[in-house]
Amino acid sequence: MKVKFMGAARTVTGSCYILEAAGRRFAIDCGMHQGNAEIEKRNWDVDIYDPRGIEFMLMTHAHMDHSGLLPRLVQKGFRGKVYMTPPTRDLLRIMLLDSAHIQEMEAQWKNRKRLRLGDADISPLYTEKDAMAAFPLFSAVTYGEAFSPSPGLTVTFRDAGHILGAAMVELAITEDGKTSRVVFSGDIGRPAQLLVRDPTAIEEADFLFMESTYGNRDHKDESDSLNELAEAIAYSHARGEKVIIPAFAVERTQEMIYSLHLLAKDGRLPADMPVFVDSPLAIQATEIFRKSPEYMDGETKALLANGEDPLNLPGLRYTPTTQESMEINAVRGPAVVISASGMANAGRIKHHLRHNLWREGASVVFVGFQAQGTMGRKIVDGARKVRIFNEEVAVRAKVFTINGFSAHAGQSQLIDWLGRFKTKGMRLFLIHGEYTAQQELAGLIQSRFGIDAAIPDYLEEITLAPGPELARVAYPEKAAPRIDWDFLIADMETRLAQLRERRGEVEGKAWVEQTELRDRLLEVNRSLAGIISEIH
Ligand SMILES: [Zn+2]
Ligand SMILES: [Zn+2]
Repeated sequence: MKVKFMGAARTVTGSCYILEAAGRRFAIDCGMHQGNAEIEKRNWDVDIYDPRGIEFMLMTHAHMDHSGLLPRLVQKGFRGKVYMTPPTRDLLRIMLLDSAHIQEMEAQWKNRKRLRLGDADISPLYTEKDAMAAFPLFSAVTYGEAFSPSPGLTVTFRDAGHILGAAMVELAITEDGKTSRVVFSGDIGRPAQLLVRDPTAIEEADFLFMESTYGNRDHKDESDSLNELAEAIAYSHARGEKVIIPAFAVERTQEMIYSLHLLAKDGRLPADMPVFVDSPLAIQATEIFRKSPEYMDGETKALLANGEDPLNLPGLRYTPTTQESMEINAVRGPAVVISASGMANAGRIKHHLRHNLWREGASVVFVGFQAQGTMGRKIVDGARKVRIFNEEVAVRAKVFTINGFSAHAGQSQLIDWLGRFKTKGMRLFLIHGEYTAQQELAGLIQSRFGIDAAIPDYLEEITLAPGPELARVAYPEKAAPRIDWDFLIADMETRLAQLRERRGEVEGKAWVEQTELRDRLLEVNRSLAGIISEIH
């Protein structure tokens, strides 16, 4: 039995683990690599996955860092079944189309520049057509229902409590008459999240692959989230301004609606404060949540049984079209606007920030992780001005950062989850985390449980056999990474085109300035000549 780490090894994104077990080759997850340019290059070279040689996939959940590379693999010949829970299937259909749309727009933008240079077109990472070609491969299996994709292999999905439909994967693999229990944690949710249940406690595993995103920190002030949200609302309502909430379209937006529903019940959401959900993807996702009540936690079910709809509010308005979205900014007065993207680096949220960030009395509420380099991060870090659509905008709105809405378990919650395992001599691998976070978590695990956690590297291959020693083989491709020359050259040319354009602008500006300066000098000369002749 072997496992190869195709991503999310010593980093967070690109989850994909290829197993060779019970005579088959299959993958857990197929995530997109996201982050800096170096990491994102990995998306283009999928030959090292050998897509035709992957017989089937087990998908933990609908986040793009776990599923977003699927259309690319389908494009390159993957034809197997993809097993996932029913909500993951429904969410993936809209999210992969959205992702494909973004890829196509990006390629279009690059090609406009290339056209001016007389260069040939580049193709997108994948298209909507590639995404749609993946849909017939989907096969839905619910939590707790054991199934066997191939002889000698039994799979059971468990509720990961992360986002709607997110699963942990339990495998029973029989080789040479001996059965091993292998568990992939997927993303482990934060206990007590709104909407979804708490992560399932699993007790048995010979080999455990565990996420470690928050391996080095706990979430702060979890209980105060609702109060902080109420504070932002009261602040802007009193000043007749808007509350802008950048939120990921899936799960976080629905949690925000739920939170506002709870505040409305408490009388803490004023009746004259409409709530706009302004993201087409979020609107579609909310519909999927509504039709999946059986995947919600006890509290949500109790509300539903009571005839109460936690995903609804008296003043809730959806604005799917661009026209409706623009109208939000034409109307003055207090309102709450929930829009994507969650890190404010793309999408309709940028328009709302441009219209409100400079307004005294408005507020911006961050309810999710803000990665380095994003507009959200700049605002959270206290920037006085930001650049939106090539225009400087002053930050005068009040900025709130609420930490309690994370969909990931914090450090001590990861330790609690791990503490439920009872298997003696379990082998543990930390995945899906930054290396520093993983090292800290590994140290904590060693001191608490006496378990030596391995931290596999990108493209490393490990033979899973019982016993103290791991047979670790660095994948030969890692030493000499394959280079996608076509992509690299195309990317370089686009950057060159941008530079040329910039040079044109700078030179143009310099020329105007020089001319003005010369004219002024001539004028000074003339008046000097006048003065001199008068003196004479
Ligand atoms: Zn996730
Ligand atoms: Zn993830």
